[in-house]
Amino acid sequence: MNLSGIGVSPGVVQGRVVTVHHVDVELPFAEPAEQDPARAHDEIRDALDAVATAMESRAARVADAEAKEVLNATAMIARDPAIADEISNQLRLGKGRLRALAGAIEHFAMLLNDLGGYMAERVTDLRDVHRRAHARLLGHVEPGMPELQSPAVLVAHDLAPADAAALNRDMVLAIVTEQGGPTSHTAILAAQLGIPAVVRCEGVIAAAPHTLGVDGSTGEITLDPDEAQTRELIDRSRRRARLQEQSKGPGRTRDGRHVELLANIGTFADAITAGGADVEGSGLFRTEFMYLGRQGAPSLETQTTCYRGVFQAFGDRKVVVRTLDAGADKPLGFASVGTDVNPALGMRGLRLQREIPGLLETQLEAIAAASAQSDADVWVMAPMIATVAEARWFADAARAAGLQQVGVMVEVPSAALRADRLLSTCDFASVGTNDLSQYLFAADRLQGRLASLLDAWQPALWQLTKHASDAAARAGKPMGMCGEAGGDPLLALVAVGAGISSLSMSLTKVPLVRASLAMHTQAQCEAMTEAVIDSLTPEDAHKAVLELADPAVAELLA
Ligand code: PEP
Ligand code: MG
Repeated sequence: MNLSGIGVSPGVVQGRVVTVHHVDVELPFAEPAEQDPARAHDEIRDALDAVATAMESRAARVADAEAKEVLNATAMIARDPAIADEISNQLRLGKGRLRALAGAIEHFAMLLNDLGGYMAERVTDLRDVHRRAHARLLGHVEPGMPELQSPAVLVAHDLAPADAAALNRDMVLAIVTEQGGPTSHTAILAAQLGIPAVVRCEGVIAAAPHTLGVDGSTGEITLDPDEAQTRELIDRSRRRARLQEQSKGPGRTRDGRHVELLANIGTFADAITAGGADVEGSGLFRTEFMYLGRQGAPSLETQTTCYRGVFQAFGDRKVVVRTLDAGADKPLGFASVGTDVNPALGMRGLRLQREIPGLLETQLEAIAAASAQSDADVWVMAPMIATVAEARWFADAARAAGLQQVGVMVEVPSAALRADRLLSTCDFASVGTNDLSQYLFAADRLQGRLASLLDAWQPALWQLTKHASDAAARAGKPMGMCGEAGGDPLLALVAVGAGISSLSMSLTKVPLVRASLAMHTQAQCEAMTEAVIDSLTPEDAHKAVLELADPAVAELLA
């Protein structure tokens, strides 16, 4: 039997299934007061200590420094004596142990939320600790990532930040989640790590398969594949590998139009990997990822050192640095001005840069200094531009810092609509399809249930992209794409047909995109874009493109 979801990280694999347990904290309707509050207190403390110990031992085993930090920070929360004191208070008020734990957690969640910024970010970790300790008090298995002794396909409702951070690429063959969305950071992280992944695959947990075949490009899932299905999966994986092996060097359509293929990076480690790979550079360096979890703003020297390391990893190739896109789904304690009711519509990206004096100037100065100390072709762009005034303000600041190639992201519909005017202030633009979808369809990119609106095959997304890209062509300025959509081997063709001149994506997606591009002409790509825009639904758009695609590509990606 087959199920399907949204493929977010390519690769075809088959393996045994390990399910990541997800439990919502369900409190008993009426829980009697504890007869022996001191004993209940000790038992709750023991549960919290056990959560912390499990986190610490995972932290000790993971190699990645960021993952270690996330896990150790969560363990520290579980051991916080202030939480233990509050549990005593709650027990004294006559609550049972589950409600006392929940009461203490809520008390601190409110406090942290009120403090905002870095502290508010810790609420997710606090709730993760709560779910784990609650399960232990009930004698259940702790939710979250099980210890993997041998390679397996992880099946989960969704992955918590601590789970996503601790993914072990040697043990995790693939990830399949029921929730999540194509632009969630778990999806991006999986693609970055090269782990095939499918999200929004409803029914996979209830189907309780022992083994799964996973196609991370098409989103197709085979439950307990039989011999013939296994052969087909292996065969498909081999054919895809052959197609990719033939693809080398700069991106080109079959009739020779050059389309730059670039890697999205967020850390120094990403830069080293991508710098050593067959790409023409980086079209999106998400600088905020380098500073997640920091208490204070990084100094000019720290930033200069970080950026120089990244630039040097690319030699003389291009690196498009995006200035801090803090806020919403990427909160940074030191770049925050309190909490927003609707964070995605609030203070994020350029809006924060304008609000916090010196934030942008220091970053631009560091980028310019690092650029001068490397051979890389450094471009700089701003996130969340909505108006010409914002674009001009950014361009002036970037040029004042001595940077030559200055651009803006097109990820707010108003920017796409007025791309011609925006481009009169700067040198290039890059479409961020993740946020452009979010704002075009008024659908939170973190809200898994809205994934169908965030489907990158939505015709409206391409109508608007083409509108912006036509404006860039008229202005004679490059319009790239750095959202996840450009990493899909069919949508990449649609983007090229819309006039997009460079595609930046998770590194693991580049080979298939390059191979797909090499098998289609510019005219075919243009016909695909037209067909997508003329379609009434995302499904129709996908079908239309498959019909126009080279049969060998269509057969592998259907
Ligand atoms: C986008 O919004 O498409 C994008 C590339 O930026 P991010 O995913 O970091 O918001
Ligand atoms: Mg964005």
